[in-house]
Amino acid sequence: MRIPMVDLATQYRELKPQLEPALLAALEATQFILGPNVQAFEAEAAAYLGVKHAISCANGTDALHLALRALGLGPGDEVITTPFTFIATAEAIAYVGAKTVFVDIDPRSFNLDVEQVARAIGPRTKALLPVHLFGQPANMAPLQALAQQHGLHLIEDCAQSFGARVAGRMTGSIGDVSAFSFFPSKNLGCYGDGGMVTTQSDALAETLRMLRNHGSKVRYYHDIIGYNSRLDELQAVVLRAKLPRIDHYNQQRRRVAQRYQAGLAGLPLQTPFEDGIGQHVYHQYTLLCERRDALQQALSAAQIASAIYYPVPLHQQKVFAAEAAGQSFPVTESVARCCLSLPIYPELSDAAIDEVCAVIRQALA
Ligand SMILES: *Cc1c(COP(=O)(O)O)cnc(C)c1O
Repeated sequence: MRIPMVDLATQYRELKPQLEPALLAALEATQFILGPNVQAFEAEAAAYLGVKHAISCANGTDALHLALRALGLGPGDEVITTPFTFIATAEAIAYVGAKTVFVDIDPRSFNLDVEQVARAIGPRTKALLPVHLFGQPANMAPLQALAQQHGLHLIEDCAQSFGARVAGRMTGSIGDVSAFSFFPSKNLGCYGDGGMVTTQSDALAETLRMLRNHGSKVRYYHDIIGYNSRLDELQAVVLRAKLPRIDHYNQQRRRVAQRYQAGLAGLPLQTPFEDGIGQHVYHQYTLLCERRDALQQALSAAQIASAIYYPVPLHQQKVFAAEAAGQSFPVTESVARCCLSLPIYPELSDAAIDEVCAVIRQALA
């Protein structure tokens, strides 16, 4: 049995009877930019997440960039974030000319270590930018307390956590502004690029709507320098078909994780940790293994895909060589050396999971 990391085709075949007529109707309607499906999706996503405003945009990287712009962050400002994330988190900080201050992660959740965040706050710190990595919500209460105490903005990177709850609230409803990605393989993915920013603030929402559309409120009147960063109508159709299923998809991801957890018990591995505060939605199922490379080879020989998210922490990337010179984050570095993500998607069968576990068991025997 060949087992891929993700399988978008099976889900598409399930959605096809509903999706194809809706896509054709949108083609017939020819309202391709900021059309009725985009508006409807924004309202539906805001209701699902429990936020006042959801502003869609072209992708998750733009969502972060627009969020930082809307908050007015720029040169001289520092933003605290994790070095163990996808590059886009730090790229957005660089786009606005602010400085990224990296802080090490917790070895079990792989999310920001809150005590180290507290120590990194200085006179130039303007914002905290936690990432709900792999679908595991960051513990938001202490971060909110720090933000309040020091007058900082709190920005959530929810690219991997659509539908995850923490302390009874949705990720993306807690910070001042939150950014989502609808890249095809994300928990809620469209069939191309897509993104969204959420906020409870009317003022920020107004700025965000202008920023994504050339700084304009009234057509051909431009108040600020904005961008062309809109979600397109066809992607909104796809997202509207999938949104009512997201809780089911996330439950299925949790089923896969639980079966892995049982099937891998007792092996010399660190399996994913659940902190009991948030509910993990398993964008990735990521192990730590001392013999990671041998394990990956054994999986590959059995035609089972696996992936290393992420092999090079951001502070060790060439692009940040000057900015992060001499910095070291031992937990992040050791996690990057040992991490291995297994196939996970809602449609992954129990038989496939059992086969992955059997191959791992044999490889580590
Ligand atoms: C995917 C991702 C992004 C960027 O999203 P795009 O839609 O690919 O631009 C940002 N942050 C994290 C943590 C991501 O995983």
